[in-house]
Amino acid sequence: MKALTLPTVGEVCVKSVPEPKLLNPQDAIIKVAASAICGSDLHAYRGRIAHIAPGVPIGHEYVGVVTDVGAEVRRVKVGDRVTGSFFTACGQCWECRRGLFSQCPNSAMFGFGPDLGDLPGTQAEYARIPYADNTLIQIPDGVSDEAAIFVGDVLSTAYFAVERSNIKPGETGVVVGLGPVGLLAVELFFLMGAAQVAALDVVPERLQSARSRGAIPVLADASAVREIRALTGGRGADAVVEAVGSETGLALALQLVRGFGTVSSAGVYTERAVPVSMARLFAKDLTLKAGKANVPAVASTVMELLKHGRLHPEHLFTERMPLAEGPRGYQMFADRQALKILLVP
Ligand SMILES: [Zn+2]
Ligand SMILES: [Zn+2]
Repeated sequence: MKALTLPTVGEVCVKSVPEPKLLNPQDAIIKVAASAICGSDLHAYRGRIAHIAPGVPIGHEYVGVVTDVGAEVRRVKVGDRVTGSFFTACGQCWECRRGLFSQCPNSAMFGFGPDLGDLPGTQAEYARIPYADNTLIQIPDGVSDEAAIFVGDVLSTAYFAVERSNIKPGETGVVVGLGPVGLLAVELFFLMGAAQVAALDVVPERLQSARSRGAIPVLADASAVREIRALTGGRGADAVVEAVGSETGLALALQLVRGFGTVSSAGVYTERAVPVSMARLFAKDLTLKAGKANVPAVASTVMELLKHGRLHPEHLFTERMPLAEGPRGYQMFADRQALKILLVP
């Protein structure tokens, strides 16, 4: 089958690799209908994580149809249209039994190489899905593949971050960083009752996208703190979602939030150490949350929002291309010429 691989940093290739087979009785095989390129794929692309073996597929966002299941798979059936979490979770350990799937010690991430479980990725024609009953979610009729693919990572990540920001009806939410996660966080803040949402970025098109979703666009420069104070009677935001994953994004989020407020970080940090001002947290009685989205715990809620038409994440795709043009897609994505790219095998 055809798959995208990363033989050297910064160079994605299309390669012929063996089709995956069931390795464990809890596995399923899916025929991939589409995969997507994600901001976190760029961490591998730019060499920020251990090298992925040449010939191993990359990618972790996927939608497809189940073609084979192991003897112990119960909930998922051959022929099901599915999407799934970007990481696997066993469903049986101490953490999984308590719903803390993102902390499963048996977990692996698709397509991130030896650092993160050495599980082949999904930018390919077929993929093996470990712990299929727990990792996959069936797609209801009426939800398109292009919408459902967001459940596996981006939309669940935005939902998880907004839910943990403790936003209450009538409050002010702020989003720092308007990539796909940040733009969906704007919409989720409104769904969870925010009276106003301010959205920060430095790219004019992204600020415009936030405005079209009802947010107040704010240029993320030296005047941003003053602007947010002006919107909130001088207090600062009740809840801030940080969707950048950088030291400056986090520092700005901590400046924008009011006393006793929450900063909920959805950004992926690959640096070992990012300075956080504990003096600021202490002085302002802040809550700071960070973490990988607990996708299996929130996926069914998020899928309901799609099923009932409350969100349309498919509009975030700015490019659709054949899988074989993946190398060009990565180049465009890395150069910020596309917001989100769909790859169709
Ligand atoms: Zn992703
Ligand atoms: Zn587990």
